[in-house]
Amino acid sequence: MHKYVYLFSEGNGNMRELLGGKGANLAEMTNLGMPVPQGFTISTEACTKYYEDGEKISGEIEKEIYEYIGKLEKITGKKFGDMENPLLVSVRSGARASMPGMMDTILNLGLNDEVVESFAKKTGNPRFAYDSYRRFIQMYSDVVMEVGKKYFEELIDKMKEEKGVKLDTELDANDLKKLAFQFKDEYKAKLGEEFPSSAKDQLLGAIKAVFRSWNNPRAIYYRRMNDIPGSWGTAVNVQSMVFGNTGDTSGTGVAFTRNPATGEKKLYGEFLMNAQGEDVVAGIRTPQRIDQLKDVMPDVYEQFSAIANRLEEHYHDMQDMEFTIEDGKLYMLQTRNGKRTAAAALKIAVDLVDEGMLSVDEALLKVEPKQLDALLHPQFDAAALKAATPVASGLPASPGAACGAVYFTAEDAIRASKKQKVVLVRLETSPEDIEGMNAAQGILTVRGGMTSHAAVVARGMGTCCVAGCGDIKMDEENHCFNVAGQTVKEGDFISIDGSTGNVYIGEIKTVDASLTGDFGRFMAWADEKRTLKIRTNADTPRDAAQAVKFGAEGIGLCRTEHMFFEADRIRAMREMIVSETEEQRRAALEKLLPMQRGDFEGIFKAMGERPVTIRFLDPPLHEFLPQDKDDIEALAKDMGISVEKLNQTISDLHEFNPMLGHRGCRLAITYPEIAEMQTRAVIEAAINVRKSEGLNIVPEIMIPLVGHINELHFVRSIVVETADRIIKESGTDMKYLVGTMIEVPRAAVTADEIAKEAEFFSFGTNDLTQMGFGFSRDDVGKILNAYYDKKIFESDPFARLDRDGIGRLVKTAVDLGRKTRPDIKLGICGEHGGDPSSIEFCNEVGLNYVSCSPFRVPIARLAAAQAAIKAKTQK
Ligand code: PEP
Ligand code: MG
Repeated sequence: MHKYVYLFSEGNGNMRELLGGKGANLAEMTNLGMPVPQGFTISTEACTKYYEDGEKISGEIEKEIYEYIGKLEKITGKKFGDMENPLLVSVRSGARASMPGMMDTILNLGLNDEVVESFAKKTGNPRFAYDSYRRFIQMYSDVVMEVGKKYFEELIDKMKEEKGVKLDTELDANDLKKLAFQFKDEYKAKLGEEFPSSAKDQLLGAIKAVFRSWNNPRAIYYRRMNDIPGSWGTAVNVQSMVFGNTGDTSGTGVAFTRNPATGEKKLYGEFLMNAQGEDVVAGIRTPQRIDQLKDVMPDVYEQFSAIANRLEEHYHDMQDMEFTIEDGKLYMLQTRNGKRTAAAALKIAVDLVDEGMLSVDEALLKVEPKQLDALLHPQFDAAALKAATPVASGLPASPGAACGAVYFTAEDAIRASKKQKVVLVRLETSPEDIEGMNAAQGILTVRGGMTSHAAVVARGMGTCCVAGCGDIKMDEENHCFNVAGQTVKEGDFISIDGSTGNVYIGEIKTVDASLTGDFGRFMAWADEKRTLKIRTNADTPRDAAQAVKFGAEGIGLCRTEHMFFEADRIRAMREMIVSETEEQRRAALEKLLPMQRGDFEGIFKAMGERPVTIRFLDPPLHEFLPQDKDDIEALAKDMGISVEKLNQTISDLHEFNPMLGHRGCRLAITYPEIAEMQTRAVIEAAINVRKSEGLNIVPEIMIPLVGHINELHFVRSIVVETADRIIKESGTDMKYLVGTMIEVPRAAVTADEIAKEAEFFSFGTNDLTQMGFGFSRDDVGKILNAYYDKKIFESDPFARLDRDGIGRLVKTAVDLGRKTRPDIKLGICGEHGGDPSSIEFCNEVGLNYVSCSPFRVPIARLAAAQAAIKAKTQK
């Protein structure tokens, strides 16, 4: 019989895949002899089976769960559903990768009307017993039956009002008992059935809810953002309860072994006396700092900090721990590698190497490449910041600077973010807000501490966040808030500083990020380990220079059509497009030539002797044709033709499907003079810079959208003929390369042919994905949500390379290309070149380089190092 359930004492820290992170760590802490309330873990395989069986827990697994309840009863000496000595448990999800706040927890399971009575007697603390009971009903209703928190909170507020008190803690046993019964009535009213009184029914309901929550929309969204496969499933942990709410000698808290915002080596966290776990994270009461525990309970503090040190040394990483104190006794409820800001991640990785806890390879694997983004994003301009006066201050929950228009709901923020920058302002956030948080430049909450949902999630996203800003008086109904005697309405601009917690009315100028001291050292390690080269996609000297600062080793794609978007240039470009005769076209090209040559010179200078790939024109025509009446009139005048004539030409050029239209090499085939001009611009610029700067430049000319060898042959011969002539005339012996993009599926599968004429391939995976799937890259967004909902896709294939299909085309072309030309240079320049998972694939198939936008260069450097390290360990 297959085993689906494991006591904590049967597992260990290496069993993450089966037991999930939480389960594996609970097992490991148990093995280390730490004070862990005992329990068992239902494996991720049980979750997968639940889905295979049509969302049912099989009889076999149900039986095993009951068997383990029996074992837990023996261990604890308590009995499930018993009146005398009831076993109460918590039920919590725990996936392989931590997904904070994504799934739900149920505490105090096992109580019913009778058990709670005897529990009250046994503990001699009826207030505590009924508080536990009402919490259980509330969580169970919300999580298992999805009744919704709000109804219960309204009942609590009503009760407090009736009693004339402010805090939950001011309600007495009788009030809480009444509330528990009101909650049960609410449950019945909403669901038409009694609240389950059997502990076993409660348990099965809760386990199913955890399995179900694996596929709730926020979990799916979180997985998509973090590349977590849906096939992993979640484990469920059933743990005997300990109570932080029995009175003043009890409490609960969360703490990190190092500061998760800065990386400083010092215990960091919060606790609340007389409270249950959710109270700290939910930010309902303001917690105390962990070092204040020293004054409240010195022995417990000592014990906890010793455990914290031991855990960090054991896991060789910063730990994020949850604990409960029950009547003066400490219990560890969980530990995991803590989420941290990018700056903290670098500091911790570098410090742990210096402390001898990690090897360089291990340290490199600890930092999530996408996190580096946060170091590369704007901060407030120092002078502008000095001149501004904060109107309020909250907790500096996630660093960075943000300014934007205020919106009060996730939906409004998402909608508004399509047009402008937004700051999401909430009383407190919950997992339902996650898409809105992601769409916002910054997040501001009125309630909550440094470990509140908003803080934890924003840090993970690298989004600026100020939390717990109690100075703000929210008026959600009227879509505004009041602060420092002023009213800020929806759509008004504010600025928030996630590094100081300050809030400002209006916009404050931002400046580029500066990288911390640890960045250079860490990235140098990454550069040593990686074998992939990192190039950048850059179309201007400025972008090229920025990319070099971030560590780019060359340009993998210079999109020459992008050099003509500026107002004074687009006219010449349009003139060329609408020309009807070769003569007209040559006249327009004459105007374009000096602009291109000048840009190429700038780019060559910025790049020094680093390789530069220049792609010939690939303009989807609709992006360049004039549409505006004034533009059309001006162009007609420039060209000396009538407006009617020009309108006629524009309408003749109309294409139903411009993405598959007259672009790429097709343009150079119909109008060879375009390729001629571009070759001239590239080669002359290279010769000029060779002469002026003494640089040995070897330009790489790239022909786009080739599907057939004859297309490449035709365009290449124009390039070679023109280039050789110019080089000869100049009296130099400059070398240059001619290659092609592999972005049409036909080119990929005939790459052996294509390689005869191409000295390099660059995979244009944007078009390869477009044509491989037959998805229009401009329109696919409209259907992706339906694909996610129906579980057809887990991620956007335009962001993360589809390894099985498009990747196979890439692999085929790599193999075929190398067969013909063993030394062929291979790279990728589609958007995937900056995506860590796709970079891993590029490393696997043996590309020479990846190329991505300048701001993603550091991410690519780290991702390439990680890919190399993983490949080495897999061997
Ligand atoms: C591509 O298709 O992947 C590519 C890089 O070219 P573009 O995005 O310009 O079509
Ligand atoms: Mg393309």
